[in-house]
Amino acid sequence: MTSNNYPIIIVGASITAISFIRTMREHGDKRRILLVHGEDRLPYKRTKINKNMVRGFDKDDFRLADQTWYDENEIDLIMDRVIHITASEKLIHTKSGQIYSYEKLLLATGVAPVVPVINGIDRKDIHSVQNANDVERLLEECKEQKRFLIIGGGVEGIETADQLVRKGKQVTVANRMRYPLQKLFPDVLAKELEYKMKAKGVQLFDGVSVASVNVQADGSYKLQLKGETLFFDVIVACAGATPNIDLARKTGLKTERGILVNEYLETSDQDILAGGDVAQHARGVVTGLWHAAEHQGKLAALNVLGKKEAHTLPPYRLKTEVFDLYMFSAAYDEVIPGRDLAVEEKHGDIHRIMYYQDDKLKASVFVNDGDRAKTYQKALFEAWDKAKIEAELPLPPKLQFSFMG
Ligand SMILES: Cc1cc2nc3c(=O)[nH]c(=O)nc-3n(C[C@H](O)[C@H](O)[C@H](O)COP(=O)(O)OP(=O)(O)OC[C@H]3O[C@@H](n4cnc5c(N)ncnc54)[C@H](O)[C@@H]3O)c2cc1C
Repeated sequence: MTSNNYPIIIVGASITAISFIRTMREHGDKRRILLVHGEDRLPYKRTKINKNMVRGFDKDDFRLADQTWYDENEIDLIMDRVIHITASEKLIHTKSGQIYSYEKLLLATGVAPVVPVINGIDRKDIHSVQNANDVERLLEECKEQKRFLIIGGGVEGIETADQLVRKGKQVTVANRMRYPLQKLFPDVLAKELEYKMKAKGVQLFDGVSVASVNVQADGSYKLQLKGETLFFDVIVACAGATPNIDLARKTGLKTERGILVNEYLETSDQDILAGGDVAQHARGVVTGLWHAAEHQGKLAALNVLGKKEAHTLPPYRLKTEVFDLYMFSAAYDEVIPGRDLAVEEKHGDIHRIMYYQDDKLKASVFVNDGDRAKTYQKALFEAWDKAKIEAELPLPPKLQFSFMG
């Protein structure tokens, strides 16, 4: 074998890739792996980057493993980008001009942030928080600038707003939806977050999209939202993300929103697997969550090891701590209004809604019961019934409403 031939190549070095490698090695598989890494530092925990803006971070922080781990596990980690795949010859081509051959290829290329087209501003001048160096660039701007506009009221946008407020910045959030985190929480809980944000001085605009700005002589941006004239120093796009499918599409793999995979993470090419945020599963699901990507990396490895285990899309959860609230949402997008029974309870600052289908827990959302988050998760995985929830996750004294959906 020459140095450019690998039994396994992984494109994209994040949690899917690391989990794949861990599983291979745990099972005693020692095949050499080429890991092509498109960023400027060792793979790191992406979820941390926008939650640590107040504290700041160094290039070495949040590493998933240090260089010795890659060496000891016989991983050739290269900082390069794959620009083309010739699937018919099982070759990848990198930006630096290298060509490598594979027997099995794992595509774990994740997502790219959606940067909206806004008249009057170059897209490169709009910030995002996708990669560690994006956040570093934003932190650099934070030193001098005061007025920040965040486009998007999803998790990334709200977490970034929270950090900027804590850094003493003036923050405005322009949200297309009515409430912040509306895709993850019913209105009644999203309103609690909105209230807290406003109390901390965040200016919220709902039902808006930013179409154009005027750059002022001092470099600031002037724009109109709902009839108000506003000025900002920095614009940050947290408007969602799209799977990086270009490589896959150009090489002829089946793609839609993501790279189409079956329950074994296999793409339409028998020697190429895909996992993590770039993969599109049954019913069009693109998972977009850290633990989901980690799980898929493991399953992809089991497939390569010939120990196929089917991916069943377990109910993943998202938790976030923002504006003095602990917020937890699990499987909320599965709720069918009018069919599932919703049980809403309040106790002190805890507020939760548990959704049941045929007396089995199907989804749950809550604020401020973080100490028991793992139990809520277990309840969902094991589909506890209402009686068991009341026994194992009590919320006295009872103030309970039940309604459909
Ligand atoms: C700011 C932020 C906060 C988040 N917070 C949470 C959270 O709290 N909880 C949660 O569950 N999830 C969170 N997520 C989502 C979570 O980080 C992702 O689900 C997870 O990182 C997906 O892992 P992945 O392996 O699919 O790839 P990614 O982490 O997306 O990484 C893909 C890698 O592939 C590289 N790549 C792409 N194309 C190429 C190429 N052609 N050549 C070489 N390399 C390439 C990219 O540069 C990147 O390094 C957050 C995401 C962001 C951006």
